[in-house]
Amino acid sequence: MRKYVIMGVQGSGKSSQAQTLAASYDLVHISVGDIFRWQVQNHTKLGAQVRRIMAAGELVDDDMAEAVTAQRLSEHDWNYGFVIDGFPRNRRQAEFFLESYDIDAVIHLDLPDSEVRRRVLARRLCAGCGMDYNLIEGRPATEGVCDVCGGALIPREDDTEEALAVRIRDYHEKTNPVLELFARKEYVVNVDARPPKEVVQKEIRERLGLPLDA
Ligand SMILES: [Zn+2]
Repeated sequence: MRKYVIMGVQGSGKSSQAQTLAASYDLVHISVGDIFRWQVQNHTKLGAQVRRIMAAGELVDDDMAEAVTAQRLSEHDWNYGFVIDGFPRNRRQAEFFLESYDIDAVIHLDLPDSEVRRRVLARRLCAGCGMDYNLIEGRPATEGVCDVCGGALIPREDDTEEALAVRIRDYHEKTNPVLELFARKEYVVNVDARPPKEVVQKEIRERLGLPLDA
């Protein structure tokens, strides 16, 4: 049984690394963000609550994240373990989590703030069909024009320098105490998230002592 927590700032490739890891070792990828999105799309009671919070421009709070995580973990549908992404969000939750589950490691994808800015500010969205682009990798054939529908490529509304600076600051404020707690218990595996994603994945596997041929 392998039980991991994965942490990383926006742009660190956290979801994609968690998915690859989970798929290769038959682990269940538990993404709190995905659970919320599912609830919203399927118009559940919780989804309605989440939608109201997001419409007000606020973030889903820690207690709600805890409730959905506890609910999801209570399903016990993993045979080989899980990778949890988006939880715990604060010290109290981290302490509780360590007491309740036998965590093997916390994977921390480390990305300098300057690189977060470079990656996130390169994101574009097609105003026509909503397709995602990234000007660092995955550029359109014609600059500023969607390959699929010919629509104009625009930055996301909340991808401004100012908004991103606030998100990065909030991330550090919230995450550092959790990382410190985990680090004191010697659970944290720090992985440099700057290299290409295959390299990052290999590094994660080596550091966790996982067989590399999976
Ligand atoms: Zn388009």
